Amino acid sequence: MAHPDDIEFFCAGSVLLMTRRGVHVDFVVATSGDKGTEDPDIEGPALAARREAEQRQAAAMLGAQDVEFLRHADAELTESLELRGEFVRAIRRSRPDLLLTFDPTPGYRQHPDHRVVGRMALDAAWPCARDRLTHPDMGPPHKTAEAWLFAGPKPTLKVDVSSVLAEKIAARLEHGSQTGSPAALRARWRHIAGEERFAQVDLR
Ligand SMILES: [Zn+2]
Repeated sequence: MAHPDDIEFFCAGSVLLMTRRGVHVDFVVATSGDKGTEDPDIEGPALAARREAEQRQAAAMLGAQDVEFLRHADAELTESLELRGEFVRAIRRSRPDLLLTFDPTPGYRQHPDHRVVGRMALDAAWPCARDRLTHPDMGPPHKTAEAWLFAGPKPTLKVDVSSVLAEKIAARLEHGSQTGSPAALRARWRHIAGEERFAQVDLR
């Protein structure tokens, strides 16, 4: 992921469905979200520390095991060997069957950090983490079986998270620095979830 709260926003329901079945889930967050505020009285380092604490709280609620912060500057991610190598190291350490990340396909509107993270995470999984001679100092090779990408323009997989929607929203609300009105957020997300069930379509 790019920022604290991305997981809770985009895929916490899927994460909950997995961890409740005993699946081991690790988080890797490229920035600590040091630009994400409209509060004129908070500086970047203090905001980053607060947001890491919020992410750790949310991760505990979601049943995640490890949370790694790469601590790049928010809104300044670029495609680089450094970032790709860090994702390779994380994949070779966690050794996942499934990678969850952003769909980097250009859409109408996309946070640049999301696009970069999606591109670099996919490049890290295939071929870099898989091939022994690529980033040889980043651990033993690992072949990830599959990736699920979110926030793309043409989704092909739909996961019904209605059974864990309340917990997903609660995890998102752990990000108090990103929440104006918890009641409004809860109402909006429940409305969206209800609408989606009503207008269910076959996305494949
Ligand atoms: Zn984000």
